[in-house]
Formats: sequence, structure tokens, C-alpha cells
Amino acid sequence: MASEKEAALAAAAVPADSPTIFDKIINKEIPANIVYEDDKVLAFRDINPQSPTHILLIPKVKDGLSGISKAEERHTQILGHLLFTAKLVAKQEGLEDGFRLVINDGPSGCQSVYHLHIHLLGGRQMNWPPG
Ligand code: C5P
Repeated sequence: MASEKEAALAAAAVPADSPTIFDKIINKEIPANIVYEDDKVLAFRDINPQSPTHILLIPKVKDGLSGISKAEERHTQILGHLLFTAKLVAKQEGLEDGFRLVINDGPSGCQSVYHLHIHLLGGRQMNWPPG
């Protein structure tokens, strides 16, 4: 399997508005372990978890949000909704002692899927700085 960095570099070469694997998850064409869903947001367990709890939160409609660097004024509501949902899911997961939210952006940020997503990581002690 390609390293995260290799996957990120390969993903950056694909047009940002191309469909991604997350479209198939949203459309239930491929299975995912969904932990939360409403009309705007889907949250599911990462297939390659980096902590005991590792969940991705994504907007159901991409609307140009291939990454956080592409955010525009019209996206403020969905961005707020994603963050608030991350807090709800953290509570649902019992992460009372704390957790971490991460958004990777672009090749240097090690982004490998160009559909905005927030990583919710918890269940172990985090370190700083991240790698
Ligand atoms: O931030 P980045 O773009 O690297 O994150 C993409 C994440 O999507 C990875 O953590 C990867 O494990 C996850 N993924 C997944 N299910 C897939 C494909 C990717 O959970 N089918």
C-alpha cells in the first residue's frame, strides 16, 4: 500500500472537482461504518484508523469543497455544522478526556481525498507537534 505521502502526491495530480471514493460512501455504493448521519453531514469510521477512535466527517454535497483551502463565504454554514457535529460525535463516542480534529489540505498537508473531511481522533494520548 502506498504511504500517506505517496497517496497525497498522487491525489493532488487529479482534478479537484473529480468524484472521489467519498461519493460512493455517501451514495451507499460501497460500505462504510457510519456513526452519524443527517441531511447535510455523514460521519463514518476511517478504514485505516490512526487511533482507537478515528472518524471522518464529510459534507454530503461537495459544492466545490475539495478541501478547506477552497472554502468560500457560502460554505460557512456547512463548515460550522461539520464542526458542531464533530463535537456531538466525540460525545457519542465517549471521548470525555479530549480528542483531536484534523483537516489535511493539499499535498504538503498530506491530503489524499479531495472531498473536504474532518478527522476526529481520540481514545489515546495525542502528541505535539504532529508528523
Ligand atoms: O486527510 P486525508 O485526505 O489523507 O484522509 C483521507 C482518509 O480517508 C484517510 O485517513 C483514509 O484512511 C480514509 N479513507 C477511508 N475509506 C476509504 C478511503 C479512504 O476511510 N474508502
